Amino acid sequence: MRYLLTLGILIVAGAASQTSAATFGKCKFNTEAMAFAGTPGEQASCLLRKVKILGNVDATPAQLPSNLAGFIGKPVEISRPKLQQAISATGLTEAALGGSLDAPVSRGNSNNPHAPEARYFVIHDTSSPNFGNVAQFPADIDTSNQVNRLDGFKSASNAKAHIFLNRRGEIYVGHDFGVPWRATKLELQIGTLARGMFLHIENVQPRRKHPSQPDGNAPMPGFSPAQYDRLALLYLMASVRAHTGLVPAFHAAIDQGLSDGHDDPQNFSLEDFDAAFGRLLASVK
Ligand SMILES: [Zn+2]
Repeated sequence: MRYLLTLGILIVAGAASQTSAATFGKCKFNTEAMAFAGTPGEQASCLLRKVKILGNVDATPAQLPSNLAGFIGKPVEISRPKLQQAISATGLTEAALGGSLDAPVSRGNSNNPHAPEARYFVIHDTSSPNFGNVAQFPADIDTSNQVNRLDGFKSASNAKAHIFLNRRGEIYVGHDFGVPWRATKLELQIGTLARGMFLHIENVQPRRKHPSQPDGNAPMPGFSPAQYDRLALLYLMASVRAHTGLVPAFHAAIDQGLSDGHDDPQNFSLEDFDAAFGRLLASVK
């Protein structure tokens, strides 16, 4: 497999037409199509299957809620001035939300100009900080400094994701969405070809020790209303830059079928995300 894949990359790099395509993961990422199997909506249904404890991903495809269903894979039609108003209303700049609306998102094959633009908006949870053997998470989990510090994720050039989003809605931009960056096993296994096809959002979610959950027990609800609102804005902005409704995806669903997968995001409410996205869409029509 490794040999074939290396060969595939060499041939693509040489711009020849005959590549040996390979397929990765449960949702079947194909290195020739540079996409998972199916229409963008079908891909989202596979990639948004509920992530249960221990990283067990639901076998049943997710039922896409209405706002996402009407948006994924379609040309983005919104009022640019109204989106800029919505951004101003947050008190943040475009740069503080992953980069300028006028700049493209990353491309595959590590920003090769001949590769397609990023297609996947990957939702992670940080699975940290871990509170150890406590009976309960702090009552002020959505505001507390104990939970919401972003300092530990900061790095001048080597942040683990494009965006880190805490429960207060604060954001640290590790990389502009134009930077090709990897944060899943699937991307690592595919190699350079996949680098740039995925945009990565880490949502701060604490864990606490649990005897049968090595990655820790997650809070319920998993995320704050401010996180869903900000995540919706980031998703819309990245899609504007890609000119197409990106395919949202859960990390664990992407890596399902590969060894040593993660269990994130835990307790993510697709309905709450869709509702936040719907409110945002209504405000930028
Ligand atoms: Zn992850």
